Amino acid sequence: MTTILIVEDEPAIVELLRVTLEAERYTVRETDSAETAWQMIAEAPPDLLLLDWMLPGQSGLALAKRLRQQTRTKALPIIMVTARAEEEDKVAGLETWVDDYITKPFSPRELKARIKAVLRRQTPEASDVPLQAGLLALDPVSHRVYCDGKLLTLGPLEFRLLHFFMARPERVFTRTQLLDTVWGDDADIEERTVDVLVRRLRQALATHRLDAMLETVRGSGYRWNPEKQNDITATV
Ligand code: CA
Repeated sequence: MTTILIVEDEPAIVELLRVTLEAERYTVRETDSAETAWQMIAEAPPDLLLLDWMLPGQSGLALAKRLRQQTRTKALPIIMVTARAEEEDKVAGLETWVDDYITKPFSPRELKARIKAVLRRQTPEASDVPLQAGLLALDPVSHRVYCDGKLLTLGPLEFRLLHFFMARPERVFTRTQLLDTVWGDDADIEERTVDVLVRRLRQALATHRLDAMLETVRGSGYRWNPEKQNDITATV
């Protein structure tokens, strides 16, 4: 489930945003102040922030700058919502602090397209795009994984790990990076827990002879290699 936090003080805009996003099956949270948003993000980071520039109290831009300075939130996807009249001349340097911006008034279609583009770019596994690796298919909307059309039963952590890997093929991730991804960077968990989870995911994949795709990279960590499946299917 992809969660979007709306930070906006105009009720009519909030309503438009909420209706548009819920129709796309996003989970929507909302607040009208940057200060409350800061707390909400600290408690549970959303997958994307839709941030109004002009807010009572701290501005949306100030919040974006604060978020970019924190390790935990510096990669949080942010789309800034700006008002044409007041801010048109200032948006030039905005990309330093946010991933994209949209000017009021905007169409729901434009909004949806921009959200999808930012999510796909920033956090591939947060988007609703189905992923495929050979015979393996992962559907982020239904949280289901199929192998050659047959349902593969996975626990929630295994699903999250697989989703992360499938969205980033060919890249090596350390145990620490995987810990942050699957459990969150505040979790007090030992690195060897990652190995246990990887083993469980491999066991599930092995029932369909797909476990070779999840490679161990000696001294570094793990890598998702979708090409490995071809070797296996060729010998079946
Ligand atoms: Ca405003």
